[in-house]
Amino acid sequence: MLTIVMYHYVRDLAGSRYPRIKGRSVETFECQLDYIAANYRVCSQADVVDAVQGKRRLPDRACVLTFDDGIRDHFDEVFPRLKQRGWTGAFFPPAHPIENRRVLDVHKLHFVLAVCKDADKLARRALNLVADHRNSHDIPADNELMARFTSESRFDPPSVIFIKRLLQHGLPPAVRTAVTHELFARIVTRDESSFADELYVSLEQLREMQADGMEIGGHGDRHEWLEHMSSQEQDVEIDRTLAFLDRVYGRRKADWAMCYPYGSYNAQTLQLLRTKSCAIGLTTRVGVNLALSNPLELMRLDTNDLPCPDSLHLLRHPNSKQP
Ligand SMILES: [Zn+2]
Repeated sequence: MLTIVMYHYVRDLAGSRYPRIKGRSVETFECQLDYIAANYRVCSQADVVDAVQGKRRLPDRACVLTFDDGIRDHFDEVFPRLKQRGWTGAFFPPAHPIENRRVLDVHKLHFVLAVCKDADKLARRALNLVADHRNSHDIPADNELMARFTSESRFDPPSVIFIKRLLQHGLPPAVRTAVTHELFARIVTRDESSFADELYVSLEQLREMQADGMEIGGHGDRHEWLEHMSSQEQDVEIDRTLAFLDRVYGRRKADWAMCYPYGSYNAQTLQLLRTKSCAIGLTTRVGVNLALSNPLELMRLDTNDLPCPDSLHLLRHPNSKQP
């Protein structure tokens, strides 16, 4: 049985400039690490690859810790804590934002949502911006967009889901990027480059982490929904992902791992990954892996699926510069 846990933001939430960002506080992260230490055997990605290839078996209650999106928290908060415990974590940074210091649209949206307290108002604001693009793009009417993209989810209210789905894949790419950019500029900051510096790890930090035992895997170049791309576009995206891993490792990485952005992939993705020697693929489908027969479609648990003490009272550090 293999449990893979997925983390994104891990930070001193209460002391950061954006305490409402959806993430794990450092205190509860530590508690979860204690829980994992007591209940699981932490394994590396390489252990899983060995098990997939039949070289050796995973221990009972094997657990792999994964960290998506190249968030700076992973270097500042996660890396030292894993190292202290003698554990290896698997980190999945997207290439383009790390190397070009641009903020991914999905992260712009996270911070817009973290700043804005009224999701209904934000949805109306987004639709007003969408209206500016109706002359140049074929976009359904507001009520049709709302009917199409509003739904329930495990973690968000319907209006937040509407905004996320509208701006993640509900509009033509140029429109959703323009609308997201405008909301981010108006609500969060117009200095995207400085924000990216605070938000993401650097290539040097990734090199330091991997030299110190951490594993770095692929999470796309521009963090795209692979299932919405043509096979040719996916091929380019995956090749750029691999070229980035080459720059992290300083060599071609054998038996690499791909973590699908948004958990999005299709049969063409799997075929391409097989031809490019990808050993394991991580999805966002929720579950524990009882077998390794589909190594390119491994399930994960969200950090919220693990027990998490809610009785911790977090200290406030108003001078923190963390985004
Ligand atoms: Zn991601």
